[in-house]
Amino acid sequence: MAIPQHLTKIVATIGPASRSPNVFRRMVEAGVTVARLNFSHGSYADHAKTITMIREVSEEMDVPITILQDLQGPKIRVGELPPTGIKLIEGNSITLIPIDPNQTSDRHYADAITIDYPYVAEEATIGTQILLADGIFELKVTGLEGNAVYCEVIKGGILTSHKGVNFPSLNLRLPSMTEKDQQDLAFGLAQGVDWISLSFVRQAADVKRLKSLIAEHGKTDISIIAKIEKPQAIANLEEIIAVVDGIMVARGDLGVEMPPERVPMIQKHIIRRCNEVGIPVITATQMLESMIQNPRPTRAEASDVANAIMDGTDAVMLSGESAVGDYPVQAVEMMTRIASEVEKDASFINYPASRTDEVHAISEALHAISDVIDFRCIVAFTATGYTAILASKERLKLPIIALTPSINVYHRLNLVWGVKPLLLEQEVNSFEMVIQQVESYLIGRNLASQGDRVLIVGGIPMGVQGGTNFLKIHILS
Ligand code: PGA
Ligand code: MN
Repeated sequence: MAIPQHLTKIVATIGPASRSPNVFRRMVEAGVTVARLNFSHGSYADHAKTITMIREVSEEMDVPITILQDLQGPKIRVGELPPTGIKLIEGNSITLIPIDPNQTSDRHYADAITIDYPYVAEEATIGTQILLADGIFELKVTGLEGNAVYCEVIKGGILTSHKGVNFPSLNLRLPSMTEKDQQDLAFGLAQGVDWISLSFVRQAADVKRLKSLIAEHGKTDISIIAKIEKPQAIANLEEIIAVVDGIMVARGDLGVEMPPERVPMIQKHIIRRCNEVGIPVITATQMLESMIQNPRPTRAEASDVANAIMDGTDAVMLSGESAVGDYPVQAVEMMTRIASEVEKDASFINYPASRTDEVHAISEALHAISDVIDFRCIVAFTATGYTAILASKERLKLPIIALTPSINVYHRLNLVWGVKPLLLEQEVNSFEMVIQQVESYLIGRNLASQGDRVLIVGGIPMGVQGGTNFLKIHILS
């Protein structure tokens, strides 16, 4: 496939609306590089089928697609309710009780909601705020008795089964990964997913625990994304960033756990820190929400996508729009079009300022050279991904072809702004080989033509993080 015209990466959640090969193929043509499987929904049979479909389309199109397994994490949910749901009426009382673990199927109560967390009555106090269904409904605790929590309905409506429950003010006694997460992880690893994201991360230890579980399965090269959606994760952002391979600004739950008005500035802060540290960051949720039903987004949504890119996000994400919406392909096309418009503007990004060492001097030089000379693309030789990420950080509006011998780095770079990764079939350890490989990959794959000028950057020997030590202007012969 040709060099993509847009440089911002697009992550699409795959679900019933997008798991037919025809729809998915069109989504890839429209610019999707990462397929997200949301393990809050769907059966293993469905996920396995989807993974096979993705691999087949990817092979047929010769476009490796990165598969991101999204683990639900410790999300509390409402149990089974009558099929029509129950009506929460403002001012009325309702009781929350834990699901009885000894009961195989949930029973319904007329005036109570079951939830899958046993300790609320111990942790809540009179006045504790409880949010349901992404914060649409709100309860306030009025009394506690045994394991029952009596509440008043503050914001009502029809509540249906399995909706999420958030307790913004409580620090709940939840493990970082549930039994279900561990089973899902085993399934995902057996299926060969490329990345794993963990929901409701609160601290670095949560990420480390996931890493050690992955290691127990005998895998060492799976990258991890921490989803930032809890106040604790904001407080511990630096320690989380230090141990993780990527970050998702998970605005859905973040805007429930924290007041929505805080989300925009938190988003900017997280993106800036990821840019500075050099790890990819995804901005997620409700980006083109109205496209679940409509073929065109609202102007505010179009602005939201554009602004996330201007903030410096590497990737923008579709959730319901591509998983269950009526216009999955159009939603991807719309993101691509918005991204292309933003990227036309040379001054759109405030790239990170901290550049003090030798390596940063090279990326500074990339910037300076490309300001005065036109290039077809940048070619980065990278065993660790670092050189490509450095080049990406400059936001040069030039595609970065990253040649890497590592499949894990390949998938990591599929999430990085502006980078088109390619897998090197052999070790490259001399400068002569660098030139020879550039010629054969770029011309052989129609990514550039004879006479095109390219900017090559990398480190010889390969494989040393921070070993970026050459930069060459080269004309393809
Ligand atoms: P979710 O995560 O879709 O798995 O909830 C994203 C978010 O909360 O924004
Ligand atoms: Mn979430």
